[in-house]
Amino acid sequence: MNLLVVGTVAYDSVKTPFGEEASVLGGSATYFSVAASYFTEVGVLAVVGEDFKREDLATFEKHHIDTSGLETALGGTTFHWEGEYGYDLNDPKTLKTDLNVLAEFNPRLPEACRDVPYLFLANIDPRVQLQVLDQVKAPHLVAADTMNYWIEGNREDLLKVLRRIDILTINESEARLLAQEFNLVKAARRIISWGPRTVIIKRGEYGVLEISENSIFAMPAYPLDSVRDPTGAGDSFAGGFMGFLANGHGLEPPQSVRQAILAGSVMASLNVQDFSLRRLSALTQDDIRERHRAFQQLTVVESLD
Ligand code: AMP
Repeated sequence: MNLLVVGTVAYDSVKTPFGEEASVLGGSATYFSVAASYFTEVGVLAVVGEDFKREDLATFEKHHIDTSGLETALGGTTFHWEGEYGYDLNDPKTLKTDLNVLAEFNPRLPEACRDVPYLFLANIDPRVQLQVLDQVKAPHLVAADTMNYWIEGNREDLLKVLRRIDILTINESEARLLAQEFNLVKAARRIISWGPRTVIIKRGEYGVLEISENSIFAMPAYPLDSVRDPTGAGDSFAGGFMGFLANGHGLEPPQSVRQAILAGSVMASLNVQDFSLRRLSALTQDDIRERHRAFQQLTVVESLD
């Protein structure tokens, strides 16, 4: 296994201006691992309840995702998130977060996962992210994500996580909340001063900004005429990004990070075209190649010299 993700496997109830779905498969680790599976061998570390459906487990199996770290808590109920989007699809409103089995989750890494080279700490309680960091041996690259729920609810542990990671991926509004700074460049630099060497700020339909100590890079999101549900865009971005790096592309030189950002942007743009993982889990390599080509054409421009 090249890449391991710890995060949520969830049932989501989501409403957007284009439709509504109740209790469908979601979760940060789910979107991440399915997106990454198109690039590399990936394993998932998460907990579900006894209500978790066989057909949803089949989504992981179909993508050859290693589920030896997917625990079923006896008598428990799967984490459930309920959210609503207005026409501004960048900012979901959380209506309900039922932690259920997540409240008691103490991840135990299977022995075979401990020397995994690439690790992604997806959106989950920072307490759990720390427990995973304590169990891995010497990963080559560690990236993490978080959200307002944890920034407000467990900032202390989150700051401990930041000290121990290489890259943070975070939404625009959450970067501002975490850094307590409105200007995104300043916010990213403040976060960098707390630990990670790179911050990738996800700006929804405006794309992403990658900020490191000495460089800034921007990539737009692909302009689509058919966005149905933005849930999981950030996690499928991270899955494409880490999947590309874990598939032998390392982190240096900087170009590979930019290619990884392109891979992540391609996966996010495909994911948002349908609810839950309906589109993301049914992609072919041709779909990915075609969106990749369209993306490149979108951003290529001759020099003005
Ligand atoms: P995003 O990629 O940011 O759109 O993430 C969407 C996923 O995050 C959904 O499928 C939810 O199940 C999951 N989620 C929502 N709230 C939380 C939370 N507090 N902790 C971890 N995962 C969450």
